[in-house]
Amino acid sequence: MRADPAEYRLVSPGNLQAVLSLLASEPAQWLPIAGGTDVMVLYSAGKLSNRKLINIWNIPELRQIEVFPDRIRIGAACTYTALRQHETVSREFPLLATAASWTGGIANQNRGTLGGNIANASPAADSLPALLVYDAEVTLISVRGERRVAYRNFHTDYKQTALAADELIRDISLQRRFSGYISHARKVGARNAQAISKVCLAALGQISNGTIRDVRLAMGSVAPIPLCLTETERALLGKQIEPSLIDSARRTVAKEIRPIDDIRSTARYRAAVAGNLVAEFLEKLVASETNT
Ligand SMILES: Cc1cc2nc3c(=O)[nH]c(=O)nc-3n(C[C@H](O)[C@H](O)[C@H](O)COP(=O)(O)OP(=O)(O)OC[C@H]3O[C@@H](n4cnc5c(N)ncnc54)[C@H](O)[C@@H]3O)c2cc1C
Repeated sequence: MRADPAEYRLVSPGNLQAVLSLLASEPAQWLPIAGGTDVMVLYSAGKLSNRKLINIWNIPELRQIEVFPDRIRIGAACTYTALRQHETVSREFPLLATAASWTGGIANQNRGTLGGNIANASPAADSLPALLVYDAEVTLISVRGERRVAYRNFHTDYKQTALAADELIRDISLQRRFSGYISHARKVGARNAQAISKVCLAALGQISNGTIRDVRLAMGSVAPIPLCLTETERALLGKQIEPSLIDSARRTVAKEIRPIDDIRSTARYRAAVAGNLVAEFLEKLVASETNT
C-alpha cells in the first residue's frame, strides 16, 4: 500500500533550536528527516508510522566537517559524497571514506547522511563498523543540553539506540591518531554496487617484526548490532602472525559473531566469510611489513 501524502505533515524550521523545541514539545511524535533515503523507503511502502516529519537537512551546524589538531568533527547531516570528497577523511580515515563509497549509488551518496545511517541502526549499515574501530564519539543534543556517548555504547539491541525521543545526533568526533595503522575494509554483497552487505569488515592494525602491536576489528551483518570483535582482538594482540594463529582467529571469530539466516544470506555463509575476511586482513598485515 502506498502512503497518502495528505496524512503527513512536514515542517522545515531551518535552525537547530527550533528543531529541538519541536522535538521536545511532543516527544516521539516528530521524526527527523535528513537525506530521507531510509525514511522515504518506509513512506513509499506505506510503513512510516510517524505522521509528523521535521526536516534537518538544511541546518548549517549539522552539515560541517571541522578539522582540529587532535580530532575531526563531522556534522550528522554530512552526506557520503561530502565524506568521500573530504581530504582529511580520505587520508586519515580511509575506512570511513571507503564505506561511504560503497553506500548505494551516487544519488544515494548525495542524499544519505552519516547521522541517518547511525540513527537508522541497521546491523548491515556500511559505515558503522568504521566508526567502531575509529572509537567514534557521538554528540547528542536536545533542549535539555548535550551529552557525549562513546559510539561503542550507542547501539543497545537490534534497532535500539541510546538516542532519546527528544534528541538529535549533532556530530560524530574521531580522534586523529590512526594514521600509522594498516587499514582494511571489505564488503561482501551480492554484487559490487547497490547491494546490502552480507558481511562487512573494518579493520586496523599495527605490526612490527611479525608481531601484532595493536588490532581493531568490527563487522556488520553478523549480529543484531554492528559488532566489535573484542575477543578476537584480545586473542591476536601481541602474537606473531603465523598460519596457526590465523586458523585460531577464524575459530574465535565464529564463536564471537551471531549471524542469522535472512533473505540476503545464511548464518553458515556469513560465519565462513567473516573468518575469511579476518584471515585476509592478517595476511595483509604480514605483507605490509614484507613490502617495506
Ligand atoms: C537505494 C538505496 C541504497 C542504499 N544502500 C545502502 C548501502 O549500501 N549501505 C548502507 O549502509 N545503507 C544504504 N542505504 C540506506 C541509507 O542510504 C543510509 O542508511 C543513509 O545513511 C540514511 O541517511 P539519511 O540521511 O537518508 O536518513 P533519513 O532517511 O533521513 O533518516 C533515517 C533515520 O535516521 C533518523 N535521523 C536522521 N538524521 C538524524 C539525526 N541527525 N539525529 C537523529 N536521528 C536522525 C531519522 O529520524 C530516521 O529514523 C541505502 C538506501 C537506499 C534507498
